[in-house]
Amino acid sequence: MAGRRVGKALSEMVRTVREGPVTVRYPFEPASVSERFRGKLDIDPAKCTGCGVCRNSCPAGVIEMVTIGKRKIGDREIENRRPVFDLYTCISCGQCVDDCRFGALELTGGFELAVFDKKSLVMKKALKVVE
Ligand code: SF4
Ligand code: SF4
Repeated sequence: MAGRRVGKALSEMVRTVREGPVTVRYPFEPASVSERFRGKLDIDPAKCTGCGVCRNSCPAGVIEMVTIGKRKIGDREIENRRPVFDLYTCISCGQCVDDCRFGALELTGGFELAVFDKKSLVMKKALKVVE
């Protein structure tokens, strides 16, 4: 019995030397994810119009619309708002990406979301756009 175990370990060692380990050296080397991986949400602030559709479609209540000023539409003056995302609670479902008709949102391959301070996962990129 012991001889069989040693034999199996030896053959595994030979295979590892020949083909390399099956594990990856992450975090010492970058890890790759599959093409369709749904990772960290990102926004292109230049494409966002502040319509608020993503906020209404998010099932996890991740998105808050924040007023950044006023804007005029014809004679009317309305609030100019942009989305803020609490990525700590985002489940990467992709609903907001599908519903944003301006193509402002995407799910990236980013997966390093473990943080000491969860407030650091609040994404406010869209607030910096000055029109
Ligand atoms: S990200 Fe898209 S859906 Fe959300 S407010 Fe901006 S334009 Fe609208
Ligand atoms: S990916 Fe899903 S959970 Fe995350 S913000 Fe978009 S709709 Fe909400």
